[in-house]
Amino acid sequence: MAKIDPRGRKVKILATLGPASRSPEMITKLIQAGADAFRVNMSHGDHETHAETIAAIRAVEKDLSRPIGVLCDLQGPKLRVGQFAGGKAVIRHSGHFTLDRDPTPGDENRVCLPHPELFGILKKGQRLLIDDGKLRLKVIEADENKIFCSAEVGGVISDRKGVNVPDAVVPVPALTDKDRRDLAFALEQGADWIALSFVQRPEDVAEARKLMGGSETALMAKIEKPAAVERLEEIIELANGIMVARGDLGVELNPEEVPPLQKHIVAMTRRSGKPVVVATQMLESMIESPAPTRAEVSDVANAVYDGADAVMLSAETASGAWPVEAVTIMHRIAAQVERDPGYAERVHFTEVRPDATTADALAQASATIANTVKVEGIIVFTGSGSTARRVARERPSVPMLVLTPSQRIARRLALLWGAHPVVTKDIGSFEEMIAKGKRMALRHGFGGAGSKLIALAGVPFGTPGSTNLLHVVTLSGDELKKHTSAE
Ligand code: PGA
Ligand code: MN
Repeated sequence: MAKIDPRGRKVKILATLGPASRSPEMITKLIQAGADAFRVNMSHGDHETHAETIAAIRAVEKDLSRPIGVLCDLQGPKLRVGQFAGGKAVIRHSGHFTLDRDPTPGDENRVCLPHPELFGILKKGQRLLIDDGKLRLKVIEADENKIFCSAEVGGVISDRKGVNVPDAVVPVPALTDKDRRDLAFALEQGADWIALSFVQRPEDVAEARKLMGGSETALMAKIEKPAAVERLEEIIELANGIMVARGDLGVELNPEEVPPLQKHIVAMTRRSGKPVVVATQMLESMIESPAPTRAEVSDVANAVYDGADAVMLSAETASGAWPVEAVTIMHRIAAQVERDPGYAERVHFTEVRPDATTADALAQASATIANTVKVEGIIVFTGSGSTARRVARERPSVPMLVLTPSQRIARRLALLWGAHPVVTKDIGSFEEMIAKGKRMALRHGFGGAGSKLIALAGVPFGTPGSTNLLHVVTLSGDELKKHTSAE
């Protein structure tokens, strides 16, 4: 008897690749442990290494014949201080510290801030957070040349440490010159997703989209600035997906503000039907330890209960000592939550209302049928991926077998909740559709002889947005025998 859910879970796992994991052997192991998509972080490494990493993913993908998503994460306008004489200095608690435009190496009183945009926009009382918020400065006085601050929390500051400016909308372009080069590279490499860091306004997303031209690559906006939270709805509208980037978000805001925001961002994105990823520090202690803390296990579990499409691993898989173990644990946590009889109730805490379209009505109907009749899955025939997103939005009780002729769409859907994408030849007729759906269901472990599935498709086939057909099929078991030609 075939396994019912090919993954044993509907939430997806996005794992960051890096020195600890970018070899073909490790990529294979991570996929076997449960990774569905990989993140290539453009903040580290060079194009040559990234190109090798992506080539390795594609080779393994071919070997395992399963669509794998590749997300290239652009560094974005990350602000950093300049350098110090001797590499570092100590800023005294309750002392003063000045950021200026003088490139001479800094000391305990001052350092260069090599971002002209910040001068003349900061106001008294606004905060500058340095090194992930470990040091806190408050502006006393600022002009075109100097930002004079009191050190609310001092400490050691060293070369090129990051600076967060949570209280201001910084007039920096959404994409730096490096981001533009990295974006062109990522598109050339056939990335399925581009992630845009430090989005502040919807215009930032629009600008990135413009630079992407007519590319089919999807765009994910990382929510890590309070300004982005304020205009979330418009940002979701313009992006193809959202990431709750809790690392920088928790520096820009108080950490205790992040959990309610996570729930808000996940719920709002889910209503749009676009995938939402919860990221950062999910299994942080596993960078060094083969076992997670109980609090981390709870955190991953809660993101799954929130109904996120995917959960992400950063340094745990990129540079940690236990990448395979981290993915394995994440898989186990997600599978356990989804087996909880209380999961369905919690995941439906976020209410979604169908749009007044035939496609949405059928998506909703398929989820309702799955709750009434015992079915093993929902077969979705889609060209653009849209029907799969509308069904996933309903968070049905069974997984989706998504059949699409487009490899690009299949890879992109690797981040979508509940989707098991399969690339298959286009379908000609209704009869062909049903026959192929049954064969693929058997082949991919969606039940056996006698199992029922729901099929959703559009007639005429291949017309985008034409989903108008819902059919309940029963597998007879001889479908596999009938199949001969390559699909
Ligand atoms: P980063 O983004 O890892 O690129 O900083 C994620 C986050 O800030 O949470
Ligand atoms: Mn970040």
